[in-house]
Amino acid sequence: MKQLFAIFGNPVSHSKSPLMHNLTFKGLGYDSCYVRYLLKDGSKLKETFFALSLKGINITVPHKEHAFNACDVLDPFAQKIGVVNTIVEREGKLHGYNTDAPGFLKAIAEFKDVKTVLFLGAGGTAQSTSSILRDEKYEVTLLNRSEGRLEKYNNDGFETYTFETFVPKAYDLVINMTSAGLEDDSLPAPQALLDGVIPKAKACVDVIYGKETPFLKLAKSHNKPTKDGSDMLLYQGIIAFEHFTNYAYSFEEIKPHMQQAFDFN
Ligand code: NDP
Repeated sequence: MKQLFAIFGNPVSHSKSPLMHNLTFKGLGYDSCYVRYLLKDGSKLKETFFALSLKGINITVPHKEHAFNACDVLDPFAQKIGVVNTIVEREGKLHGYNTDAPGFLKAIAEFKDVKTVLFLGAGGTAQSTSSILRDEKYEVTLLNRSEGRLEKYNNDGFETYTFETFVPKAYDLVINMTSAGLEDDSLPAPQALLDGVIPKAKACVDVIYGKETPFLKLAKSHNKPTKDGSDMLLYQGIIAFEHFTNYAYSFEEIKPHMQQAFDFN
């Protein structure tokens, strides 16, 4: 039977996920369809899911915590971080996963001999990715514009700084986890601070995709290898597709099909 999948978010019109998943369904001959759904009220996530007779969804901003609360069964990592971006219905129960973090982990695996990582930003994406990096024995330090969001990380034992308290030192990877540069031309931290860490880094990474941010431009001006957020987006989608199709296809089987979505602009 044809299955229906969707992405829930607000806004959702920009999402690449329908293209990524539909190209993969078509390429693998899997008779399903993936649509976008503007969900305004996150507390209606579960009833909307069943009203639309969906088999699975991805969840984007601002509903990832609502998604966590809607699940009947959580995989251990999603349970730990409290953030769900993928739900699959099995026998009437909603199973929740987080694929952003393992997608990110795979995206940075190409950088070898990396131990210390500086996160610029401490929002939702930093939350799941810092947790998985720590599980994988990376040492994550967080530098954030304001203090409020750092409290949780302090309580979890991470080293954290604001722009006022930070003293630049060497980190193997410097990663922009903020939305600075997404819709403006701002850097994620004052340039003087970035000029203190970028030259000592092995590479710089941005989670923003589809454009060269001021942060990545600055990293290139220091002759550093750079990487944007496209692979993170691709890999979280592949891992979600594995869950959607009950592991009928391997990561490598899914990848060439989903990758085609990045040929479109
Ligand atoms: P949140 O809203 O949860 O957090 C935003 C963070 O950015 C906060 O730490 C905030 O600092 C900081 N920030 C925002 N604007 C600025 C600025 N001008 N200067 C300095 N710091 C700033 O966002 P998310 O974690 O959900 O998303 C972060 C980024 O990750 C977005 O750009 C998003 O597009 C990207 N993303 C990419 C994915 C991918 O697959 N490639 C997947 C998911 C997200 P403060 O606490 O001071 O407000």
